[in-house]
Amino acid sequence: MTVTRSTRLPLMAAKQILVLEDEKPIRDMIAFGLRRAGFDVREAEDARTARAALADKRPDLMLVDWMLPDMSGLEFTRQIKRDPNLRDLPLIMLTARAEETDKVAGLEGGADDYITKPFSPRELVARINAVLRRSDPQVEGEVLNFEGLQLDPVAHRVLAHEKPVTLGPTEYRMLEFFMTHPDRVYSREQLLDRIWGGNVYVEERTIDVHIRRLRKALEEFGYDRMVQTVRGAGYRFSTRVE
Ligand code: CA
Repeated sequence: MTVTRSTRLPLMAAKQILVLEDEKPIRDMIAFGLRRAGFDVREAEDARTARAALADKRPDLMLVDWMLPDMSGLEFTRQIKRDPNLRDLPLIMLTARAEETDKVAGLEGGADDYITKPFSPRELVARINAVLRRSDPQVEGEVLNFEGLQLDPVAHRVLAHEKPVTLGPTEYRMLEFFMTHPDRVYSREQLLDRIWGGNVYVEERTIDVHIRRLRKALEEFGYDRMVQTVRGAGYRFSTRVE
C-alpha cells in the first residue's frame, strides 16, 4: 500500500467558526489562529453583518465580542438564543472585562462559554473544541476512515483493508483519539489526559509502550507509519505518510 500526499482524505469537513468582532487587529489575530488550527473561519465586524452571514450559512460555532458598534454582544446572544433556528448554535463570548457579573450575564444570556481578553490562540482553540465536543455528540457514531484504515466506534471494531485488526482496549482508545484528532501533535501529557483521563495516575513512558503495541498491530498493513513520533514534542497521527 502506498499513501501519498495527493491521496490524503480529510476525516470530515473543517468546522466553521463565525467570528463577530469589530476590532480588526483582534479579529485578524483570532482568524489567523483558528485557520492555523484547521478551522474554516468567516468574519463579521458588526451584528448586522453577522446576521447576514448566519442567514447565508449556519456555522458550527460562533464567537461574539461583548462590545460591538451596533448592539451589545450580550443582546446579540440573547437574540440568537430566542431564534428557534439558531438557539442551539454553540456560542462563546469574548470580552475585555473580567468581572464575574459579566461572566454570569453572558452565560445567562445563553453563551456556552466565556473567554476574557487577552487570550492565547491555543486557549481559544481549546475552549472551542470543548464546546464543540459538548454540542456535537453524533460525531461519536461516525465510522472513521483514512486510506482504508477504518474504525467503527459503534461496533468497536478496526478494519485494515476490510481485514480485522486486533487491538487491546487502550490501543483502541488511542487509535480512536488519533483518528478523531489527525495531523496534530500531542505531548505525552496531553495524550494521558485525553485517553486515560486526567484523574488517573499513569507514567508518561506508559504512552510509549502503548504506541509500540499500536504500531505493531498496524504494521502488517503499513499503517504503523501513520503513528509518528515528533521528536521533543510527542506523537502525531498523520494522514500523510512521508
Ligand atoms: Ca469590540
